[in-house]
Amino acid sequence: MQFTAEHDLFRKTVREVVEREINPHVEQWEDDGIFPAHELFPKLGAVGMLGVEYDPAYGGGGADHSFTVVLGEELGRAACAGVPMAIAVQTDMATPSLARFGSEDLKRRYLAPAISGEMVCSIGVSEPDAGSDVAGLTTRAVRDGDEWVINGTKLWITNGTQADWICLLCRTSDEGGSRGMSQIVVPTTAPGFSVSRRLDKLGMRSSDTAELSFVDVRVPFENTIGEVGKGFQQQMMQFQNERMIAAYMGVGAMELALDRTVEYLRDRKAFGRPLLDNQHLQFELGACYAELDLLRHYNYGCADAYLRGEDTTRFATIAKWKLGKLARHVADVCVQLHGGMGYVEENWTARFFRDWRLWAIGGGTDEVMMRTLVRMEGMPG
Ligand SMILES: Cc1cc2nc3c(=O)[nH]c(=O)nc-3n(C[C@H](O)[C@H](O)[C@H](O)COP(=O)(O)OP(=O)(O)OC[C@H]3O[C@@H](n4cnc5c(N)ncnc54)[C@H](O)[C@@H]3O)c2cc1C
Repeated sequence: MQFTAEHDLFRKTVREVVEREINPHVEQWEDDGIFPAHELFPKLGAVGMLGVEYDPAYGGGGADHSFTVVLGEELGRAACAGVPMAIAVQTDMATPSLARFGSEDLKRRYLAPAISGEMVCSIGVSEPDAGSDVAGLTTRAVRDGDEWVINGTKLWITNGTQADWICLLCRTSDEGGSRGMSQIVVPTTAPGFSVSRRLDKLGMRSSDTAELSFVDVRVPFENTIGEVGKGFQQQMMQFQNERMIAAYMGVGAMELALDRTVEYLRDRKAFGRPLLDNQHLQFELGACYAELDLLRHYNYGCADAYLRGEDTTRFATIAKWKLGKLARHVADVCVQLHGGMGYVEENWTARFFRDWRLWAIGGGTDEVMMRTLVRMEGMPG
């Protein structure tokens, strides 16, 4: 991965926007259990943060994937992980399929306002009885003339209480399993759609997570993204973008956390000298930095493969698995090395510990990443 002066400038822009538009509000948004996406997203859209790679015809930046790496690393440095996750839903989880497979009309109506930040979007895959097992989902759309009629429930939907539209994965035939699913853009103004509840979570508290209900929701047939019946396959591709941005954000977040911990130990004295003089603590941190470097450069390998147009399933799977494991470890080390100060809400470590625990679960669990990998290695399903 070759970063240029242009990347440096973009990095600086994103860092300033995070410091100006997100960090000062994090305490309030964490208390509220939600952040105002309709206020924040237009500001991000104005500086090109919501459509880095998308076609300029829809307001995108037309940049290559290396700029998404920069975006992710910088978002990860925010004072919470909830808002970056919500932004990543908008940029790399709910919109890639629409950009790849959507009709021109659909992109004009839904992708362009997502890139500008005027509309907020969600990705609706998980259900109460189908999370890891995406092929087990039961939300169904039945065709009635030139409309879909949708019934079902989605759970754990990020941005779900404030989204204007949802990239919904649902069944559109009786084939069962991974067959016969489609992706449909569902506007949340459609009659029959409702937010059944907002979930109270361990971390990612500034990001709203919802259960959504669909009762005879009618949307035009032309809201189908790509081919009818190919939704599962399209979503599997979209998951790769989700896993890549998560791993990029993780690198930025963990680097900042480790640097802050080093600074704390430099100042904090025990037994007559700075704690950082203690070689055991140095080695503990050194091992974290080493593993972080491995993930960072693995991410760059993944991004390079993506830039070459290769299938990055294996890269994205391993990067996401490593993120889940490493973020848990780094958060634990940061809490531990701060002593009592690591365990209080007034210190950043507590939120970091809670927030980053999510990434071993969200976007496909550690176990699901392993399942994907061992299957690629030819082990029995
Ligand atoms: C904060 C948050 C935000 C989220 N945002 C979204 C969103 O915006 N959109 C969306 O669609 N979803 C979202 N999710 C859902 C998330 O993707 C799922 O929680 C995740 O995929 C796991 O599914 P599940 O919760 O149903 O767990 P389950 O599938 O019930 O799994 C439970 C446990 O069993 C393990 N397991 C399952 N199958 C296997 C197997 N075959 N082998 C070994 N172990 C297995 C899992 O790894 C896990 O440890 C979000 C979740 C959270 C917590």
